[in-house]
Amino acid sequence: MKNFRTVKPPRGLPREGFNSIIAKIEATVGPQHVTTAEEDLLCYAYDATNRHYRPDAVVFPGNTTEVSAIMRAANELRFFVVPRGGGTGMTGGALAIQGGVIMVMTRFDRIVSIDRDNLVAEVEPGVITGHFQEVVERQGLFYPPDPSSAAYSTLGGNVAECAGGPRAVKYGVTRDYVLGLEVVLPTGEVITTGTRTAKGVVGYDLTRLLVGSEGTLGVITKMVLRLLPLPGVARTLRAVFSQIQDAARTVSEIMRSGMTPRGVEYLDQAAIRCVEDYLHIGLPVDAGAMLLIQVDGSALAADAALEQLAGICKQGGARQIQIAASEQEAADLWRARHAISPALFRLGPDKINEDIVVPRSRIPEMVEWIDDLRKRTGLTMVTFGHAGDGNIHFNIMLDKGDKETLSKAEAAIEALFRQTIAMGGTLSGEHGVGVTKAAYLDMELGRAEIALMKRIKVAFDPNGVLNPGKIFTDH
Ligand SMILES: Cc1cc2nc3c(=O)[nH]c(=O)nc-3n(C[C@H](O)[C@H](O)[C@H](O)COP(=O)(O)OP(=O)(O)OC[C@H]3O[C@@H](n4cnc5c(N)ncnc54)[C@H](O)[C@@H]3O)c2cc1C
Repeated sequence: MKNFRTVKPPRGLPREGFNSIIAKIEATVGPQHVTTAEEDLLCYAYDATNRHYRPDAVVFPGNTTEVSAIMRAANELRFFVVPRGGGTGMTGGALAIQGGVIMVMTRFDRIVSIDRDNLVAEVEPGVITGHFQEVVERQGLFYPPDPSSAAYSTLGGNVAECAGGPRAVKYGVTRDYVLGLEVVLPTGEVITTGTRTAKGVVGYDLTRLLVGSEGTLGVITKMVLRLLPLPGVARTLRAVFSQIQDAARTVSEIMRSGMTPRGVEYLDQAAIRCVEDYLHIGLPVDAGAMLLIQVDGSALAADAALEQLAGICKQGGARQIQIAASEQEAADLWRARHAISPALFRLGPDKINEDIVVPRSRIPEMVEWIDDLRKRTGLTMVTFGHAGDGNIHFNIMLDKGDKETLSKAEAAIEALFRQTIAMGGTLSGEHGVGVTKAAYLDMELGRAEIALMKRIKVAFDPNGVLNPGKIFTDH
C-alpha cells in the first residue's frame, strides 16, 4: 500500500510512484484542484483532536464522477484516500494517519433543491451546516441537527459522524433526518440509497449503515434530508446552582416530568470559570453548575413550559433563574455554551476530550463519580454537555509533554469508560470512534459484533484504501 510520502518516506516509496499518482489525480480534477505544497499539507494535517498527521496530497474534487475516478485510481495504484469536510471532527476521522490523499469535499457546496411540499431537501456534502439551517429557516422550515460547530462543520461531516447537538433531546440526531444518500464506494462504484418519501423499507437499510460510518465505507456526494416546519418561537432559561449534584438531579427531574425541552445543556464550575475568563460576560464564577434550557413551539405553549421548568429548577435548588426576554438575550446566554471549546485551552495546551452517554436517570450518579475522580487524581477536568440526553463532554486539560500527568489522564479516561459501560452507557454519543477511541472499541462491543463490522468494511472496501486505521485499530 502506498502512502506516497515525499519527505522522509517511511516505507521507501519511489518518487516515480508518487508522481504518477499525482499526475493521474491532476488529470481527473485539473491541476488547480490538487496540492502537494508543504504549507497546504500542513493545513490539512489537523482536525479538532489536536493531533497532527501530514498527508501526501490534498485533492478538491468537484463532482461525483471525479470522486469515483479517484477511488478507482486508489484501488488500481493502491493509495489511501481520507474524506474530509470542515475538519472539525473530535476523534481524528479526517486525518491521514497512514498518509495518502485528503479528499476535501468543500466544492460540493450546492443546496440542490428544497421541496416545501414534501419537506425534503437535496444537498451536497460540503454545505456548511449553519448556512443550510439559515436558508431553510428563511423559508419557514427547520433542520434540527445543530452541532455546536455548525458555523464550520459540513453536512457531509455531520452525516458521516451522525452529529448531534443541544436540540437532539427533543428532535433526535442527524440519522433521524437522512432519507437517502448518493455515495461513491471505496471501489469507485456510485450507489444511491434510501428514498425521498417519508417511509421506505425496500432492502437492507444502507442509509442507516452509512450514516455514522465515519468516512470508512464510502464518500458521500449527495444527501436527501428531511425537514420540519419551523417551530413558532424558541425561549431560553438559565438556572444557576451552587451544587453540581443539584443541577444533575434537576436534569433527571425535568426529563421525568414528561416535558420535552428542545435542549438541556449544562456547564460545571470549571467550564463557567473558563468561559468567563475568556468572554468576560459576568457569569457566576462561584456557581457549582449552570443549566441552559430551551423550549420551542407556540408562544403560549413555550411560556407555559418555561414557567413549569423554572418551578422544577427552583425546587431542585437553583439559586438564580433567568428567562431571556429577547432573542438577543437568549443568544447572549448561549454564547457561553458555544465558547467552551476554545475557552478550555486557557487551562492547558492539550485536551483529552470524550463524549460519553449514560441513561438520563443516572446523570447525578455519573456527575458524582466524576467529581470523585477529579479529587482522587488532582487532574484539571471540565465537564459540560447535552445533559438532556445524558451526553456528558468530559475534558482533561493538560500538557501532553508532561508524561506523568499524561499517563494519569489516560488511566482516568479508561476508568471513565469502564464506569460508563457499567452504568449502561456508551463511549460516544456523537463524536464517533475515529482514532482516539479505536483502542477501546472492545470495551463496549462484543467480539462477534466487531468481527461482523470488519466483514462489512471488507465488503465495501476490499483493498482497504478508504480512511484506514479508523474505528478499528487493525483495519
Ligand atoms: C467547537 C466544536 C463543537 C462541536 N460540537 C459538536 C456537537 O455539538 N455535536 C456533534 O455531534 N459534534 C460536535 N463537534 C464535532 C464535529 O463538529 C462533528 O463531528 C462534525 O460532524 C464534523 O463535521 P466536519 O465537516 O468538520 O467533518 P470532518 O471533521 O472533516 O470529518 C469528520 C468525519 O467525517 C468524514 N467525512 C467528512 N465528509 C465526508 C463525506 N462527504 N463523505 C464521507 N465521509 C466524510 C471524515 O472522513 C471524518 O471521518 C464539535 C466540534 C467542535 C470543534
